[in-house]
Amino acid sequence: MHPFTYSRASDTREALDAGRRGGRYIAGGTTLVDLMRATVEQPETLVDITGLPLREITVTERGGLRIGALVRMAEAAAHSRVRTLYPVVSEALELSASAQLRNMATIGGNVMQRTRCAYFRDVTADCNKREPGSGCAALHGHNRTHAILGTSDACVATHPSDVAVAFAALEATVHLLGPDGERRVPFADFLLRPGRTPNREQAVRRGELITAVEIPALPRPLKSGYLKVRDRQSYEFALTSAAVVLHVRSGVIREAKVAAGGVGTVPWKLPAVERHLVGERPSEALWADAAVRAAEGARPLRHNGFKVELLKRTVERQLRIVGGAK
Ligand code: SF4
Repeated sequence: MHPFTYSRASDTREALDAGRRGGRYIAGGTTLVDLMRATVEQPETLVDITGLPLREITVTERGGLRIGALVRMAEAAAHSRVRTLYPVVSEALELSASAQLRNMATIGGNVMQRTRCAYFRDVTADCNKREPGSGCAALHGHNRTHAILGTSDACVATHPSDVAVAFAALEATVHLLGPDGERRVPFADFLLRPGRTPNREQAVRRGELITAVEIPALPRPLKSGYLKVRDRQSYEFALTSAAVVLHVRSGVIREAKVAAGGVGTVPWKLPAVERHLVGERPSEALWADAAVRAAEGARPLRHNGFKVELLKRTVERQLRIVGGAK
């Protein structure tokens, strides 16, 4: 492992000072330490931020939910407000990683995690994300688990997070604090598609810290849930997944928020599916017609063509689970 220095920030100012000088923030370390061991990441300076006061989950004035960046995944999943107000978030968290990892990893770290593309983690392989300009071994290699949406000629890796799919569906906001003050970034703009610069994955500026993720208030009653399809039932990333949030009043869908995981280079919001649902009455036919739109624009690779149909079926099934049918 490349030598590095380690310090523990006692307050936010100290952390930001270290971050401005190029220090890398570390909390649960469940991604960064792995990547350092594999020499994919070689930071000179680590700044431990686990002592900062970012571990609260609070209901906002408008009735939304603010989850501190250092809340552990397991804590967020078990929190009564998360479970009752946004089950889609707790379900996505519980279907992530392993229990041990969920006990260590934080919400901020989760949305900052890097891809699980095997070529990215193999320093002998060509990878534009790890080494810009070197090429993409996945394009003509084993790409069964790779993305079918949002890809570019430079990178076809999926975003690995489950809870990020729920955040995308719910149109959450990421709160950042940096040398220039506070900033709020809509989740849709926070995670970046690869384009020609797949090495840039988040809209985080030098020295900025994530302080919280805020989920907006939504009209009630609200039903929501997360479905994950994978090769085995635990400790595995999604082949496809669907986060569905529905507000139904007087038998009519008034609001629909839907996003997919395992298929996009970022969590993939599905506005065409949402538009098809709003104003309609729940029915088996509606779920099927809406889900057909989930794979619009998909560009399958040599080994992952099956994801197109699997995505539609995953979305249809989760619409039925959350919305029921007459
Ligand atoms: Fe690297 Fe992206 Fe290609 Fe994987 S898909 S090898 S992460 S450039």
